[in-house]
Amino acid sequence: MIPYGRQDVTDDDIDAVVEVLRSDFLTQGPAIPRFERAVAASCGAVYAVATNSATSALHIACLALGLGPGDRLWTTPITFVASANCGIYCGAQVDFVDIDPQTYNLSVEHLATKLESAEFLGTLPKVVVPVHMCGQPCDMEAIHALGQRYGFRIIEDASHAIGASYKDEPVGNCRYSDITVFSFHPVKIVTTGEGGVAVTNDAKLAADMALLRSHGITRDAARMTHAPEGPWYYQQIALGYNYRMTDIQAALGSSQMSRLAEYVARREALALQYDIRLAQLPVQLPKRAGNRSSAWHLYVVRVSASERLTVFNAMRSAGVGVNVHYTPVHLQPYYRQLGFAPGRFPNAEAHGTEAITLPLHPGLSTADMDVVVATLAQAVKAG
Ligand SMILES: *Cc1c(COP(=O)(O)O)cnc(C)c1O
Repeated sequence: MIPYGRQDVTDDDIDAVVEVLRSDFLTQGPAIPRFERAVAASCGAVYAVATNSATSALHIACLALGLGPGDRLWTTPITFVASANCGIYCGAQVDFVDIDPQTYNLSVEHLATKLESAEFLGTLPKVVVPVHMCGQPCDMEAIHALGQRYGFRIIEDASHAIGASYKDEPVGNCRYSDITVFSFHPVKIVTTGEGGVAVTNDAKLAADMALLRSHGITRDAARMTHAPEGPWYYQQIALGYNYRMTDIQAALGSSQMSRLAEYVARREALALQYDIRLAQLPVQLPKRAGNRSSAWHLYVVRVSASERLTVFNAMRSAGVGVNVHYTPVHLQPYYRQLGFAPGRFPNAEAHGTEAITLPLHPGLSTADMDVVVATLAQAVKAG
């Protein structure tokens, strides 16, 4: 099976991990700040906080922004469930904003309309989580302007988008947001096995996220309620979690980060090949929005809803590991049980019935791509 995504692990990566295994620290050692500096430097942010997953990073990002019971978090339905679940973890109410059917990203027009109603009804969100779907940045300048006007905070879920850029600046520089979160799961662009990083330019948010990542415990005397009783002394000043990344993971991440530009360039070249080779087929190809470049985590096409299952099965049978990104989050049984019903976000729901993710990763060969293209062409003609 040609997988839709796959990690690329080199001998250098393996050596970096082995070096940590032979060192004094498997966790809470020097590899973590080194990885954090590498991520912050690559995206032009001031602070980075590494965690054991992007899900954990989203959770502590929400907490650091003060999201809690009685508050609202809005995100897109076309995302991985974690973009919404982080709001629920904090006791907040989650709602969604419909997508732009061309870019698959949260629609700024729908956001503006929904904010106008919410202001009237007194139901404005405290936090909005734009997701850079497939690696293509959302229209952040416009979302940020709405944030200024309606008073919400912004967490960019850039799990797909490390290495992408918006208006010639890297995603993650937080020019238009409070915090940006990256995922380092093996299907993503760069991996640590499992892992996440939250970046920000705000010292207080960074310190709060670092605190929440490790039990709410501090060794910083300035943050304690009274002077330390001795060199052994620490205080728990908030209810935190164990969301720490290990040094083993961080060493893999630092080694992988040195190839970020190479990975994104390779993905971009493959995506361009797909654009060219699929142009004549009766399928909707992903649209490239202006003033930005995608990290190309995913290449998602759309076929007619009535054909999708047939096309999907035909491709899987031919050894092509297609996938679907995503079933809209509000239609998941957990969210249905919270009161969401079909019909609420029609663009997202149409996407959910038509989308097919084609294989795209740095190890995809020309021969693999020939198989994917030929199989899709045959499937849509037969379907
Ligand atoms: C993968 C992903 C996450 C969660 O990342 P983990 O590191 O697996 O927790 C969150 N949001 C989006 C959009 C993702 O694709």
